[in-house]
Amino acid sequence: MTDAPSDRLLPLPDDWRRALAVVAHPDDLEHGCAAAIAAWTDAGREVAYVLATRGEAGIDTLEPARCGPLREREQRAGAAVVGVSVVEFLDHRDGVVEYGTALRRDIAAAIRRHRPELVITLNHRDTWGGTVWNTPDHVAVGRATLDAAGDAGNRWIFPDLVEQGLEPWDGVRWVAVAGSPQPTHAVDATPGLDRAVASLLEHRTYLETLTAQDPETYARDFLTGHARAAGERFGGTPAVAFEVFPR
Ligand SMILES: [Zn+2]
Repeated sequence: MTDAPSDRLLPLPDDWRRALAVVAHPDDLEHGCAAAIAAWTDAGREVAYVLATRGEAGIDTLEPARCGPLREREQRAGAAVVGVSVVEFLDHRDGVVEYGTALRRDIAAAIRRHRPELVITLNHRDTWGGTVWNTPDHVAVGRATLDAAGDAGNRWIFPDLVEQGLEPWDGVRWVAVAGSPQPTHAVDATPGLDRAVASLLEHRTYLETLTAQDPETYARDFLTGHARAAGERFGGTPAVAFEVFPR
């Protein structure tokens, strides 16, 4: 692997107090960037989660009416492991989340409620790299989150939000996309990695259907493998990589 300066991931900016993570499904943040979130909450930063769906279409053997509440419980437990107590659901329908103004409006409202400087989302690009196709919900929610960071600051785009008492928040300084095939920045994964594994393991019912592997082996291998790969571009330090869009 080359290590030309242009290949190196930069440290993610850390002069912020509040982050809001907006993703499509339970387990997206645990697969994507929970090690970074653990380090942030350790440092006294506030992080809240907003999920577009309850992941109710994620388990073939479990009908959505039973799956949704179960995955919500697993998500709240996974968040708690990395120091996050605020978890909200927007109740879009799993698997058929539509990019559009309804989604942008719901995410803009969440940004106005939480007033973050940093917004986190999951890969909005077509693939995970190469020909590994991404899922439509991730693309829709990631793109809508990038757009909603601007919508949140404009009084006139969703005037009904102001009528509801949600004043514009134009303070988002960065949107950082976890899982992107084009990362630019990174966070040291070392201090939070064990809790990231524990956090992912809280999605036990889901993991048992996702993989035939032992869930603990799967979670540790997945997260350490990704941290090591990102670390190759971060001075050898295991890392969580993000594609950062400054605002
Ligand atoms: Zn997902």
